[in-house]
Amino acid sequence: MRTTFLQPVPELICSHGLRCTRQRRVLFEALASTHTHPTAEALFEMVAPHAPDLSLATVYNTLKAFCRSGLAREFTSGNGTVHFDANIDNHAHFQDRRSGNLVDVPKGLSARLLASLPKDTIAQIEARLHCKVEQVHIEFVGQSHAGPAVV
Ligand SMILES: [Zn+2]
Repeated sequence: MRTTFLQPVPELICSHGLRCTRQRRVLFEALASTHTHPTAEALFEMVAPHAPDLSLATVYNTLKAFCRSGLAREFTSGNGTVHFDANIDNHAHFQDRRSGNLVDVPKGLSARLLASLPKDTIAQIEARLHCKVEQVHIEFVGQSHAGPAVV
């Protein structure tokens, strides 16, 4: 599992105001265990062999419930695909234009990038749009080079 939680998954789900059903636990554990930022369909394919009673509609509705409760987040990548992420910390992504692979920018670099955003500009955005910015999503799009990534 890529993410270490401070509490067991059933308690984590309950602490976000959701009933912890077996299907929700299976889906959250699958989402948290992958680095791929899956679509609802991709997550369905991941868990279907282990949960034959699960439907794509249930996966979709459960992911939406996770996002509403703050357990996960969804975002639309540059190619218009909706992805889900159990990592709710602010972080940036990189999407390979050719393969469509979507990866996290390493934590330290994401933090440095987000910290460098001009606070006065964000304040002006909030004032002009009459809103409170709660999350920033930055996605880089380009082409991966052959060879191992230096993280
Ligand atoms: Zn991510």
